[in-house]
Amino acid sequence: MRTIATDVLIVGGGASGLLAAMAARRLKREVIVLEATESVGGSTAASGGMLWLPQNEAMRKLGESDSEEDATAYLNAALGAVNEISTSERRAAFIRTAPKLAHWLDASKLALQPVRGQADYLPAAPGYRKQGRALLVPSLDKRILGPWLDRLRVPVTSGHELRPRTPTELLGATRAVAGRLFTTDRNVARGGAALVIELLNRVLGQGVNVWTDARMTDLIVEDGRVVGLRCLRDGEELELRANDGVILAAGGFEGSEDEREENLPLPTDLAWTAGCLSNDGAAINAAQRASAALGGMSDAWWLPIIIADGSVHPIDTERRLPGCVIVDQAGYRFVNEAGPAYRVGKAMYDRNRTVRSVPAYLVMDNKFRARYELGPWLPGATPRSALESGEIVRADSLSDLATALGIDRAGLLGTAVRFNGFASKGKDEDFGRGETPFERAKGDATKRRNPNLGELEKGPFWAVKVYPGDRGTKGGVRIDAASRALRADGSVVPGLYATGGSAASIVKTNVPAEGTALALACVEAYRAAMHVCGQLDTVDEL
Ligand SMILES: Cc1cc2nc3c(=O)[nH]c(=O)nc-3n(C[C@H](O)[C@H](O)[C@H](O)COP(=O)(O)OP(=O)(O)OC[C@H]3O[C@@H](n4cnc5c(N)ncnc54)[C@H](O)[C@@H]3O)c2cc1C
Repeated sequence: MRTIATDVLIVGGGASGLLAAMAARRLKREVIVLEATESVGGSTAASGGMLWLPQNEAMRKLGESDSEEDATAYLNAALGAVNEISTSERRAAFIRTAPKLAHWLDASKLALQPVRGQADYLPAAPGYRKQGRALLVPSLDKRILGPWLDRLRVPVTSGHELRPRTPTELLGATRAVAGRLFTTDRNVARGGAALVIELLNRVLGQGVNVWTDARMTDLIVEDGRVVGLRCLRDGEELELRANDGVILAAGGFEGSEDEREENLPLPTDLAWTAGCLSNDGAAINAAQRASAALGGMSDAWWLPIIIADGSVHPIDTERRLPGCVIVDQAGYRFVNEAGPAYRVGKAMYDRNRTVRSVPAYLVMDNKFRARYELGPWLPGATPRSALESGEIVRADSLSDLATALGIDRAGLLGTAVRFNGFASKGKDEDFGRGETPFERAKGDATKRRNPNLGELEKGPFWAVKVYPGDRGTKGGVRIDAASRALRADGSVVPGLYATGGSAASIVKTNVPAEGTALALACVEAYRAAMHVCGQLDTVDEL
């Protein structure tokens, strides 16, 4: 077997792997990034690309200020009590590093812009910010990648949420669709794909070795220290040795049916993840064999999804618009449909303990279907094949719809009457739909009283099955504030780091805001790279 030595080995070509590579290379380390698939980008390329980075300077452009005290108070209020995974040290490290990372990226000419209308999720929490703390890489021409464009992951689905909600936006979107057909708009990358392109471009420019089709199969441990790894590259088995350390940035285990069934709440299905299928948990398992402890394995970044045209589609826009409800199989609502994704997904599992709600149903009236997109389907255009396959069901009345779905008829009719009463008043007395700035910004801006509420009135009625999908799993390797892997007794596994989807997340209960997962992944990656290069003190002292 051939042996190759370098300074830093990074497993995974998503945001956290590429960002760690960029930081370590900047500090003059020789770096190899291994990407298991033929294309770089991971789940990041499918994501909205938002980064929730408290105290970032760009927030000021939206007239919002921030402070360490407020950011800490808000994060702690969202995350609840500390525990052995979500430690106060890791939380403090995130808050301290977030603005420095934003500044470092800016200084690296990777300009992030503040995102309008991305309020934090929890208005009642101390330190809440109405304009939010999210940053996004602006859209860009993906051809800047040159020959590497062929090795950029093209996701089946996109988590990007910036869909038209007002007539003006609709006009813009129509132009965009026309533009896509007739001009070069297909060359524009947005959200997570744009972030990956920016990072990859820098990493390649710095001379980092990015290997695609290179899968880590195991770690090499000598005298209790991780000194390298084994990989399969283009069919060849290689032994790679790292002078400074190995960083696992290989996502979670969302892409493994077996791992899902062993760890996540049931029922679960590989078809429900919007994450990257090559994130199969192999890196996490290798870390465990190398004596690292795991944590948080039963949790995920839940995301309600539908299966449309045979593939997974998040319904983050749809469920927040007027004229729809999500009901269980008894026909009842059980959650604020417009709330944060993780809350809706988790509520589906909680409800399923007493009333079947996996799948639940998104029930819409015809005005909804005529006016808004649903998954891949344009307003008013539902393919016959989707009706024939049962991906979407249509019926003239709600009563017929309940019968067609096999759910409780009286339950659904009662729900519609009650919900319509709330919608006509603009106030959802059961679940408070449309009461937070975050939700309202994602509703239909033409509905002044409550942009998230509207009656279910005009037949025919439509329904699709909703599943508790995910944007990736939350469990993984237990790490400290320097992203070093830890054993069960809290001691460090020398030479091993984990970040992003490969690390056990500090977020257990409430997610603070959109963009938290990616921000944590990037901060952990930055800190891992700085530590492996012996420079973390300089970050913490600044
Ligand atoms: C549709 C969607 C929308 C999302 N929207 C948002 C959002 O707006 N904000 C937010 O905060 N988060 C969002 N997320 C979550 C976010 O994208 C992830 O948390 C983040 O991208 C994780 O980054 P990562 O680098 O850890 O993993 P990834 O980007 O998944 O990269 C992991 C890489 O490792 C590779 N790999 C796996 N195993 C191996 C191995 N053994 N050897 C070599 N390589 C390996 C994989 O092929 C993959 O390319 C979204 C996710 C999805 C799917």
